[in-house]
Amino acid sequence: MGTEILLSGVVYTARDAAHQRLVHALDSGKKLPFDIAGQTLYYAGPSPARPGRIIGSAGPTTSQRMDSYTPRLLAAGLRAMIGKGARSQEVKEAIKRYKAVYLVTIGGAGALLAGAIRRAEVIAYEDLGAEAVWRLEIESFPAIVANDIYGGDLFEQGKRKYRLDRNEGGRQMECVFCQIIAGKISSETVYQDEKTVAFRDIHPRAPTHLLIVPRKHIPTLAHVSEADSSIVAHMVNVANQLARSEGIAEKGYRVVINCGQEGGQLVPHLHMHLLGGRQLTGLLG
Ligand code: AMP
Ligand code: ZN
Repeated sequence: MGTEILLSGVVYTARDAAHQRLVHALDSGKKLPFDIAGQTLYYAGPSPARPGRIIGSAGPTTSQRMDSYTPRLLAAGLRAMIGKGARSQEVKEAIKRYKAVYLVTIGGAGALLAGAIRRAEVIAYEDLGAEAVWRLEIESFPAIVANDIYGGDLFEQGKRKYRLDRNEGGRQMECVFCQIIAGKISSETVYQDEKTVAFRDIHPRAPTHLLIVPRKHIPTLAHVSEADSSIVAHMVNVANQLARSEGIAEKGYRVVINCGQEGGQLVPHLHMHLLGGRQLTGLLG
């Protein structure tokens, strides 16, 4: 309990409406649309992917809404759940009884979670729209064990260390790039200096796709103050230097900073994309 893990493999999404149908199917002796034995449910309703993406945002919903259905699904073989917030006493007891585990994600890290999804397809209850059941293939999806087979409960322990809410201290804790900078989430770091860190994009859109980020948590380009503007110039210098070391400087490359929602920014920590190694077209190539 309290262990931070990186999950890889298959999970199925299900929210309230899907839970209701799953339990209804079980109660009426029908087959479930997928074999739930040994499986993991992720309490999320992914939004549709924007062009070029595997999935839209895919953050967790509050698990409490699933509590009344969960013991039934655990009895049917469900072994892991991923969500947000504490569970009911009945669910905690069932977790222990069926030797299952309940994981929580890092609150507000929807973009990080989406970045860990390799494949996504709707496999059941398509008519439920955002609440349909998706089959997701995930890789290095970060989560924290909240309830384990021994009855351990992260929420009862109230470990301040794992701030799961959005209160003070929560922001840096939930920022993906701050966590990469702090070494709490692994990344393939290719460069660092006192002001910036650069690492490979987890979902590369070109043979070379690096992200250059300031160590300082600046949410977007729009938040760069006059006093901080030298950081952006420094990021450009780092990009040029990395383009050379990556061997893409001569043929050409592209740097991109997405700003805010309509600018297509998913991770709210200023970052510059460095793309190259193929002929880039369109917006992000
Ligand atoms: P943007 O859409 O401009 O906010 O870009 C965010 C980028 O961060 C995307 O290209 C993601 O693939 C990338 N990304 C998200 N999480 C990680 C991670 N843990 N390690 C490396 N890159 C990531
Ligand atoms: Zn940050």
